[in-house]
Amino acid sequence: MNYSFRKKNKTVKYIIIHYTGMIDFNSAYKKLNDLKSEVSCHYLVSRRGKIFNLLCPKLKGWHAGVSEWKNVKNLNDYSIGIELENKGHEHSYTNFTDSQYHEVKKLINFFKFNFFIKDKDIIFHSDIAPNRKKDPGEKFLVKKLGIERFNFHQRKTLNINGLLKLYGFSHNYIKLYKSDCIKAVKRSLNYKNIDSSISNTFKKKFNNLLFK
Ligand SMILES: [Zn+2]
Repeated sequence: MNYSFRKKNKTVKYIIIHYTGMIDFNSAYKKLNDLKSEVSCHYLVSRRGKIFNLLCPKLKGWHAGVSEWKNVKNLNDYSIGIELENKGHEHSYTNFTDSQYHEVKKLINFFKFNFFIKDKDIIFHSDIAPNRKKDPGEKFLVKKLGIERFNFHQRKTLNINGLLKLYGFSHNYIKLYKSDCIKAVKRSLNYKNIDSSISNTFKKKFNNLLFK
């Protein structure tokens, strides 16, 4: 199993949602348990709704890779990784199943209660590595988990960079990969076609995502 020990000053604050991106469950299960793959996660949720606990949450998994979120780098240090079985964009990306949502919701509620994880700290792989990752992707319906990731009350007039910053992208990533950040927001908004164009409709939807 691939893992490291968490440092004492680096405690779990985030949950990161992924998809496996492999053709079937067995290949994903094998990869996540293979020393040579150099990847791992804490939980794997199959399409049939079975939860596989692959790694103790107290240990650091290797699922996030090079990543940034707000002012934090290397999110593996601070997170629990949940992988959902899905073939992903490279094969034939499909809807997630109701059983998967049901089980992920149970897992998240457990961590909210026991690790004091907040809704705003449940994030996507595509949010923390927008230049490299698309998962869980635009077919992932976060509403089905019963959480509110963004809940800013005071509406502000912000330009697109301001909105991206408020969403949570690091300063560095907005500077280097702005168009990828926009694509990640579109995935979060469940757009069907993902591109980096910025229309007025997009700005409106982006605002409505952030402000309640
Ligand atoms: Zn991922």
